Amino acid sequence: MIEINKEAIAERFMRYVQIDTQSNPQSNSYPSTEKQKNLSVLLAEELKQLGIEDAAMDEFGYVYATIPANSQKKNVPIICFCSHVDTAPDCSGTNVRPILHKNYDGEEITLPDDTTQILSAVAHPYLRTHIGEDIITASGKTLLGADDKSGVAAIMQAADFIMKNPSILHGDIKILFTPDEEVGRGTAKLNMKKLGANFGYTLDGGEAGSLEDETFSADAATIIINGVIAHPGYAKNKLVNALKVAGEILHALPTSEWAPEATEKKEGFVHPIRFEGIAERATIEFIVRDFETDVLKKHEDRLQKIAEEIVDHYLGASMEFIVTEQYRNMKQILDENPDVAAYAAQAITRAGLDVTTESIRGGTDGSRLSFMGLPCPNIFTGMQCIHSKLEWVGVKDMAKAAETIVHLCMIWEEKS
Ligand SMILES: [Zn+2]
Repeated sequence: MIEINKEAIAERFMRYVQIDTQSNPQSNSYPSTEKQKNLSVLLAEELKQLGIEDAAMDEFGYVYATIPANSQKKNVPIICFCSHVDTAPDCSGTNVRPILHKNYDGEEITLPDDTTQILSAVAHPYLRTHIGEDIITASGKTLLGADDKSGVAAIMQAADFIMKNPSILHGDIKILFTPDEEVGRGTAKLNMKKLGANFGYTLDGGEAGSLEDETFSADAATIIINGVIAHPGYAKNKLVNALKVAGEILHALPTSEWAPEATEKKEGFVHPIRFEGIAERATIEFIVRDFETDVLKKHEDRLQKIAEEIVDHYLGASMEFIVTEQYRNMKQILDENPDVAAYAAQAITRAGLDVTTESIRGGTDGSRLSFMGLPCPNIFTGMQCIHSKLEWVGVKDMAKAAETIVHLCMIWEEKS
């Protein structure tokens, strides 16, 4: 029986969220904001206090630590648990004031620092499954930072449990805390050799029991329109305005399909995200997403054809079409290593939860890690309404995430 201390994990989580760790997409430094290190330093220090001797933060703000194996078996794979310390740039993370709502009664919760922020079970039905449990919200002016400090707290509490319960047999366990996940650079300065793990799990998912083993495959596509420039006073039958051509391309894109606002589940899309230019030259940037990597090319061909047909109507105008790879569906890698997700599902079951396998309509650090050689599905932490002032998390869900980590360590040892 694995009994995770709920008060301890709640206290730990509430301490971590008060440290401002917002990342910044405009920054070119690593980490993107120095303040992320304030939490990372603390985590390394707390891991040391648990007796994990090699715990340390590096110059880029990554925390690496090893819980040494206590199993007699020599062939237990090295498993890594990973969470990100940064919070999203979308919503303030300064002066976060976490509020513990004990024994949640199912009624609306009005956040005290901004009474327009109301959390209700009507809008957020998952709240209903927490009646009678403790939940944590922010106070109305900031996000909470459960994304991903609930994952951080779960890993820390699991480490605490494993260090204090030597009867739990396990192989080498690696702990990794990364900066800058929210700005897409969480693995940019990660040293895979130093990490030295065979398989990994990110703790960065939502509802209790959820296991995500599939992400989008993602490309970026850029269309550059070259118009024909002339003095506007003497431009008759000569000038081709690149801005107008680009506008026509945007107008030609379907809105009832093939767009994020018109797709769900396993459907892919093409989505313009940036438009800039002058009369002479205009650029449209797109993101292209699908679960099937092969189908990305079909989306790109369709986009190129739509654009070319329009540009062809303008004498002298030309276009360039550039595709760059962003990330790939982690399922490709996980299918080659079926034990990784299967053991996670077993661990969730042993924690007494129903497993729900989900596909992420986005990317995670896990997709990048998977293709860097560390097959890495994503496990729930309980976080809800992320990147918003209504963000909340159930204490029991976090404790269950920590329990799942402990079971996973035991399962890998048992099966070796
Ligand atoms: Zn996250």
